[in-house]
Amino acid sequence: MIIPKEARLTPEQEQELRDVTGEFGITLQTIVGDHRTVFAMHGDERHELLIARLEGLEYIQRVDTIQQPYKLMSKENDLASHKIRFNGNVIGEGFTVVAGHCTIDPKNPELFYETAQAVKEAGGDMLRGGVWKPRTSPHSYQGDARGLEILMEAKARTGLPVVSEVMDAEQVKLVIEHGVDILQVGTRNALNYGLLKEIGRQIAGKPNGVLLKRSMHMGKLDEFILAAEYIVAQGNPNVMLCPRGTIPAMDGYRNHPDESITVLLKEKTWAPVIVDPSHAVGKGIYVPYVCMAAAAYGSDGVIVETHVNPRLGIGDDPKQAVTPDVLARIIADCKTIHRIHQEHSHRVALAS
Ligand code: PEP
Ligand code: MN
Repeated sequence: MIIPKEARLTPEQEQELRDVTGEFGITLQTIVGDHRTVFAMHGDERHELLIARLEGLEYIQRVDTIQQPYKLMSKENDLASHKIRFNGNVIGEGFTVVAGHCTIDPKNPELFYETAQAVKEAGGDMLRGGVWKPRTSPHSYQGDARGLEILMEAKARTGLPVVSEVMDAEQVKLVIEHGVDILQVGTRNALNYGLLKEIGRQIAGKPNGVLLKRSMHMGKLDEFILAAEYIVAQGNPNVMLCPRGTIPAMDGYRNHPDESITVLLKEKTWAPVIVDPSHAVGKGIYVPYVCMAAAAYGSDGVIVETHVNPRLGIGDDPKQAVTPDVLARIIADCKTIHRIHQEHSHRVALAS
């Protein structure tokens, strides 16, 4: 990782950097944070002469050959000062709540518009709506591109940024063109490195972000963080991590709830953590407890399946969605707990 002294290099300096690293068979990836631009080296960066030559350039502050498996996502990386912004809100400052349908029903757009308005009135910051769905059975509803038009209409009506899942390169292209703000990578694709790279490439240089769910098959936390590294390595650092429960499921819960890993993720990486309580427990009545636990563990927000009338929903909504009045209560309680968490962390920091 090459860290320049100034926030931005001149084109001549950048060219010189490419020439020097190119001599050693290394290619550079530019990562543009809002405070700084840094350069990741692809290839064997440990060559002593290379490091000496780079450090000899007057505009270079230092060269990090970070030994951790992830270089960009590490808290030690300068990207730690990067801020992810949507609608003027900085993710990680305050508690962000994303809410909306698991699945948009194209036969019933009004329900989604009602939910969108109700999410806004309840104090939600962003709207979620599934257009294409990864379903266990090929005979279940797979989604429909008409859902994308409905999602964008709801964005226009409410002014809320929108989050939706993508599963292939064509969907990535479509959602970016239509103005979806945050691309969700679901648990089934969180280890699909080809898709992660493709998303990274397509959002590079754009304001979009990614909500990366934890795969239910992921082992160590490094595997999760490295999946995010795949996206960020393509140039756009707007990536948020989303614990959503893993297998094996617990008796009574859809998955094994994992909001507690928030603390560990926060020790290792700068990426904001947005917990998904809905898929972790799989039942609307349990969802508020996981939201509160996520806030207590220091998460930066939650993504909650919410529906004005869950019984009329499709996909996961009949089982998992909470109603907007429950969402309003969740938001109020989580904001209180988030504040308590921050005060506690501040006291611990002062004492250490
Ligand atoms: C969803 O968000 O509706 C979804 C399918 O999520 P996951 O990938 O976590 O199962
Ligand atoms: Mn769902």
